[in-house]
Amino acid sequence: MPAFDYDLFVIGGGSGGVRSGRLAASLGKKVAIAEEFRYGGTCVIRGCVPKKLYVYASQYSEHFEDAAGFGWTVGESRFDWKKLVAAKEQEITRLEGLYQKGLNNAGAEILHTRAELVGPNTVRLADSGKTVTAERIVIAVGGHPTPHDALPGHEHCISSNEAFDLAELPKSILIAGGGYIAVEFANVFHGLGVETTLIYRGKEILSRFDQDLRRGLHVAMEEKGIRILCEDIIQSVTLDADGKRVAHTMKHGDIAADQVMLALGRVPNTRGLGLDAAGVKTDERGAIVVDAFSRTSAPGIYALGDVTDRVQLTPVAIHEAMCFIETEYKNNPTSPDHDLIATAVFSQPEIGTVGLTEEDAARRFDELEVYRAEFRPMKATLSGRKEKMIMKLIVNAADRKVLGAHILGHDAGEMAQLLGISLKAGCTKDDFDRTMAVHPTAAEELVTMYAPSYRIRKGERV
Ligand code: NDP
Repeated sequence: MPAFDYDLFVIGGGSGGVRSGRLAASLGKKVAIAEEFRYGGTCVIRGCVPKKLYVYASQYSEHFEDAAGFGWTVGESRFDWKKLVAAKEQEITRLEGLYQKGLNNAGAEILHTRAELVGPNTVRLADSGKTVTAERIVIAVGGHPTPHDALPGHEHCISSNEAFDLAELPKSILIAGGGYIAVEFANVFHGLGVETTLIYRGKEILSRFDQDLRRGLHVAMEEKGIRILCEDIIQSVTLDADGKRVAHTMKHGDIAADQVMLALGRVPNTRGLGLDAAGVKTDERGAIVVDAFSRTSAPGIYALGDVTDRVQLTPVAIHEAMCFIETEYKNNPTSPDHDLIATAVFSQPEIGTVGLTEEDAARRFDELEVYRAEFRPMKATLSGRKEKMIMKLIVNAADRKVLGAHILGHDAGEMAQLLGISLKAGCTKDDFDRTMAVHPTAAEELVTMYAPSYRIRKGERV
């Protein structure tokens, strides 16, 4: 008789959970995976995938406008929100099926239930009440949008979870936050014709990004017609007689909108998971504490992805899952590498970035060369659109290593992926210089900025 029911039990059918369950099963391990909502997790069901589809949908309004400059006359256009929601639903359902098919083909047992820890190596299945044991348990339950309970009237607000499936497209929306989700959704709703206001507590949106890109995006969004209110917060939200939300702000008075959306960060889904019973420690934010190999404080229990609050990104969860498999099932101890993660904000224009911002690099290195180009992309010449592209390379003067690459403009995310390889490989500015340009592209600017735009010495611009 085997000592445990399973070799591996995975709690959570999102990016990290599915990858670890599928790979372990394909190695011949006896695996079960439990998901209480829908397979695919946040990324597929109410995150990256539907978001990107909505970004595409929202760009058509500008495409139609731009077409005139290229000789096209576009007829009357109309947008149908319900059709978009239905098309999105069809696509995520397809992907959800593929996730399960992959697990199934690998031989994993797929469970549609909540699962909670009840002790070391032991999990209780909420639907049947049955208890099962496993030699190893992976917790990959992700996170959820912070509901901001401290805000009076928060119950009148929506989060990104609801935003995808609203019964009607609102005429107006107020979005709180200045991070990825707030900025992306502000652009989506604006592009779909919604009167959009963004309210952010800090001086400038996207606090962890390069200052130039933050400013550049802010200006571009305002030029499109998105209202951005910085250094302000919502103090309460009430409903007026017509059912409209009224947000009472600290500095900008009352703002009435059909919807108020909170995008104030995401918190780990650890409540009620039985972590205490199993001896799994969490930090003050409720995130599971793990070591360099994703091991929790309880032997045999591992945690991956957003629930650990290391870096809340899908590819990071997948990478952590692959490292777990290498370490535990391939006798090849591998700890996740969280350095130089390329990332994109699917704002309009997009941000693509990898490595240190100018501000961070200036704190860490004595002398920097900053290469910066700001230009009108070729498409905008005929379309007449005002939008500018910004490209920046941050270079350590001492060894010419490229420390950071930052782009604002079309396809910045696509470029960031490739720049990620260059920076990971430790490329220097000289490597960029001897790379032939691809012409005519916007990306060629990255290899044709021969002289530094300015230098930073001991934190001062010279
Ligand atoms: P972020 O951490 O990006 O942003 C949260 C925002 O809320 C920040 O602007 C923050 O301000 C603000 N904030 C936090 N608490 C309060 C408060 N009490 N009052 C007022 N403002 C507050 O979180 P998101 O919710 O936007 O996204 C969650 C995560 O999901 C991201 O960190 C990202 O990793 C991931 N994601 C990635 C995407 C991508 O790869 N394209 C897309 C969407 C999400 P401050 O900056 O001052 O702290």
